[in-house]
Amino acid sequence: MKATIVGGGLGGMVSALLLAKAGAEITLLERKEELGGRLAYESNDRYRIDRGPTIVLLPEMLRSILREAGVGEDEYELVRCDPMYRLHYPDGFMLTKWTDKEAMAQELEKVAEADKDGFLRYMNDMEPLFREAKQAFLERPFLRKRHFFTSRNVKLLARLKVHLNVRQLAGRYYANRRVIDAFSLQTLYVGGKPSGSPSLYSFIPYAEHAFGIWYVKGGYASLAAVLERALRRAGVKVQTGVEGAVRQIVTEQGAVTGLVLENGTRYSCDTVIYNGDFPHLGAMLQGSASVVDKRDFKPSTGCVLVYVGVARSWEDDGRRSAHQFMMPDHLPGSLEQIEASRAFPGEGEPLPAYYIFNPGALDETAAPPGETVLYVLIPAPIPVEPHSDYDWERQTGAMIDRVLADADARLFPGLVDSIVWKKVRTPQDGAKEGWYKGGSFGIAPTLTQSGAFRPQFSPYKIKGLYSVGASIHPGGGVPIVMQGAKMLADHLIEEWATWTTT
Ligand SMILES: Cc1cc2nc3c(=O)[nH]c(=O)nc-3n(C[C@H](O)[C@H](O)[C@H](O)COP(=O)(O)OP(=O)(O)OC[C@H]3O[C@@H](n4cnc5c(N)ncnc54)[C@H](O)[C@@H]3O)c2cc1C
Repeated sequence: MKATIVGGGLGGMVSALLLAKAGAEITLLERKEELGGRLAYESNDRYRIDRGPTIVLLPEMLRSILREAGVGEDEYELVRCDPMYRLHYPDGFMLTKWTDKEAMAQELEKVAEADKDGFLRYMNDMEPLFREAKQAFLERPFLRKRHFFTSRNVKLLARLKVHLNVRQLAGRYYANRRVIDAFSLQTLYVGGKPSGSPSLYSFIPYAEHAFGIWYVKGGYASLAAVLERALRRAGVKVQTGVEGAVRQIVTEQGAVTGLVLENGTRYSCDTVIYNGDFPHLGAMLQGSASVVDKRDFKPSTGCVLVYVGVARSWEDDGRRSAHQFMMPDHLPGSLEQIEASRAFPGEGEPLPAYYIFNPGALDETAAPPGETVLYVLIPAPIPVEPHSDYDWERQTGAMIDRVLADADARLFPGLVDSIVWKKVRTPQDGAKEGWYKGGSFGIAPTLTQSGAFRPQFSPYKIKGLYSVGASIHPGGGVPIVMQGAKMLADHLIEEWATWTTT
């Protein structure tokens, strides 16, 4: 039982741990110097903040898979975010999302009596649907389309109203446009528009209320070091940098036979798990071009990210929290406009939606005393085409200045003048690191790229070739990628067991 894993992102590391625990001999190759992939920090000598994921959903899925992978609960700390987050609109209106069902119902009652009832109905309807859909769609691979289209699943999809998108489904429960935003914007967490993602993804807003939003003390990226320690304990052989950069996966007669590193070194191996963004796998396959999926995959939303260190702090005035969404007056229109024009709104046009992460609201160690670190995320649904001459630096510079000035005016007074460190990442930076077309979350969560239509962990008829990560079913987001790694590991362990018994 031996496998080589290409990529030390979350999917690669969790697969490695689960397989090593079952007794397999695992080598993990990562082309960067550090493990973690999208799970990383951005820092200078004074400040440090998560570069990517910040919102912990489905804490029980996360805990149980980490436990199974050999990571104890004493190795990391989850802190509940309550309130979960706030939505702020340009006219000063604020909607707070509370963990407590009663508190949430009261919050909605202030907006519209009908939406309070809608919320109670939503939670009631979604509870059994989520339970069944989790089992049917998140915990099962679809190596054959017929495994997806069973009569049970088809009935469940009908009950989930899969012909609707997430925004339309929220519209069946809520009347107020802003409440609909609050129960559909969550598709942005996995890189899709609420109106472009099938209702299946409504499990995200539901799960927030059912299981809460959490924060990993020290930042989500601290899990990368936790996992790396576990890999060493489990005896996984880890090679990073030049010795971990894989150029090609060699196949002969429909089976994996080895790897070629960027430095020309050749390895023999018969089981490879690829953890890079899936659409890049085809180009890495030497000897199997004919089986490659030629679909033109739609990338997830890209993001412009601005990390700032600020030489001041703010008292808690009940308006700022760890997570906040700064909303445009009309979210769907704003997202459509950016997508159609393939550019950010110009000077004088309304600002797009953006998100501010303020870890100091939960974690006193997030910044030096009396100071603050923030991360601002602006969804930029503009795919980075290989030969495009779109000038990211110039196009985003003006938008960032406007967004920071807006955050200063609405929520963090004095912000702009107190910034002492600033770092910007654009989708182009992501594309340079191998993020498919600069998308932050792998391929987009559209209907034709979900469930049985999303690439599966055994994507091609090539013996010994597997794939794991955000672009593979069941999809993106930390716990879901872990769940994908678990499905793959369970499958391989079962397959290996049949070899030893036959
Ligand atoms: C800005 C941002 C915000 C996010 N917010 C959240 C959030 O709040 N909550 C949440 O749950 N999720 C969030 N996510 C998503 C989450 O981070 C990802 O779904 C998850 O980390 C992806 O894991 P992965 O297994 O796909 O690996 P990746 O992180 O994509 O890592 C893949 C690794 O493979 C390596 N690799 C690729 N090709 C090769 C090769 N040829 N040779 C060697 N190594 C190779 C890469 O260098 C990389 O290290 C966010 C992501 C981003 C970018």
